[in-house]
Amino acid sequence: MPIPARKSGADDAALDLASRYDVVILGGGPAGFAAALSLRSSPDLRILVVEAQAPGQQRIGESCPPDVMVPLARLGLAAEFKDAGHAPCPGFASSWGRPGVGYNDFIVNPLGPGWRLDRKAFDRMLAEAATARGVDVAWRTRFRGVEPAAEPGLGHRLHFARTGPATCSIDAAFVIDATGSQAHFARALGIARQIDDKLFARVRFARIAAGDLETEQVMLEATPQGWWYAAALPGNGVVAMMVGEADAVRALGRSDAGYDRILNATSFVGPALATLRLDCMSYRTLPIRSGILGRLEGTDWLAVGDAAASYDPVMAQGIYKALTDGIAGGQAIAAHLEGRGSMDGSYAQRIRDRYRAYLQSRAHLYGLEQRWPESPFWRNRHAIRQGQD
Ligand SMILES: Cc1cc2nc3c(=O)[nH]c(=O)nc-3n(C[C@H](O)[C@H](O)[C@H](O)COP(=O)(O)OP(=O)(O)OC[C@H]3O[C@@H](n4cnc5c(N)ncnc54)[C@H](O)[C@@H]3O)c2cc1C
Repeated sequence: MPIPARKSGADDAALDLASRYDVVILGGGPAGFAAALSLRSSPDLRILVVEAQAPGQQRIGESCPPDVMVPLARLGLAAEFKDAGHAPCPGFASSWGRPGVGYNDFIVNPLGPGWRLDRKAFDRMLAEAATARGVDVAWRTRFRGVEPAAEPGLGHRLHFARTGPATCSIDAAFVIDATGSQAHFARALGIARQIDDKLFARVRFARIAAGDLETEQVMLEATPQGWWYAAALPGNGVVAMMVGEADAVRALGRSDAGYDRILNATSFVGPALATLRLDCMSYRTLPIRSGILGRLEGTDWLAVGDAAASYDPVMAQGIYKALTDGIAGGQAIAAHLEGRGSMDGSYAQRIRDRYRAYLQSRAHLYGLEQRWPESPFWRNRHAIRQGQD
């Protein structure tokens, strides 16, 4: 029996959860919701997405390559996405490996332009589509731990903390770990993560109060201490971000003036942003962990998105990868639960192959910048291994 659809977009910390689901998805980011939507191709499955945060939070990550249209079309969301007010992105303008600015245009890409997302609208679209298609979504509910379910063969008993002091436990035949690079479920099973690089980002969101950013391209600039990224966002927003090692990111300080001092010393991104008057500035410092889980699937669980493998954001692949993994993971599980396939390791192999290709692309990109051989940032990036299992 298909599960009746809930009211679209219900913010539901008080959702009356069932005690047992066929699939519980831990984490309501793009990977988790893509998995939930993909699993809806099996209408009889009872599916729950559990998300620690409240709906409507501002998340990090807004640049997507043209390829993002492929998973969105597979989820039946291409038209809705195009109508949601995201800004097309004609390509990259980058100062990398040489002085001056080079352009990498999407003009010949048959999938069209890249995108600068209105991230809140994007997240809302995924969550509302899942609820409308009968997925239960428990917001403000945090996965705390796991033990084998009461009856053998019934999967996992999951423990959660909900808003306030409340806790609850739910049985799941199958669990998807979509909790991001912390991979909380896999960690609870004792699975280690192989980390190949650690960086930090200091991100500033702001509103453009006056002036025009002259480019719709995403801007990228290598500097001796790391790299800068900036992009105009839908609704008169603008994001700037420096990625570097801990000391360099700490040097940006906690004030607008400290941030601007270092940003303005760049040769391309700083001068482009200096033409703007900004207000409503907010900052976040985030760790960036490039790494992959030691095990990516078991007989009754798998990991998707950053939980499976997290990339350096210089590749701008995270959201695309999250959607693609969610779809692949959802399909593998549906086939498994319906007896049409088994968890035979092919999903995991695909993630590992892609990770190897990512390591090579990243090494190539960082290898293009050779101007500062004495800089610890670039020396360390050049020293990282290119390929591993
Ligand atoms: C600084 C920075 C900039 C980036 N910029 C870009 C960009 O421009 N473009 C791009 O494509 N990618 C970008 N990325 C990468 C991108 O954000 C991620 O790859 C993407 O969000 C991964 O999606 P996900 O669904 O796997 O994980 P996440 O988006 O991390 O979602 C995981 C979810 O799980 C929830 N969760 C965590 N723990 C629990 C728990 N215990 N219980 C319940 N829920 C839990 C979290 O609240 C979160 O909502 C950037 C990353 C960083 C760090």
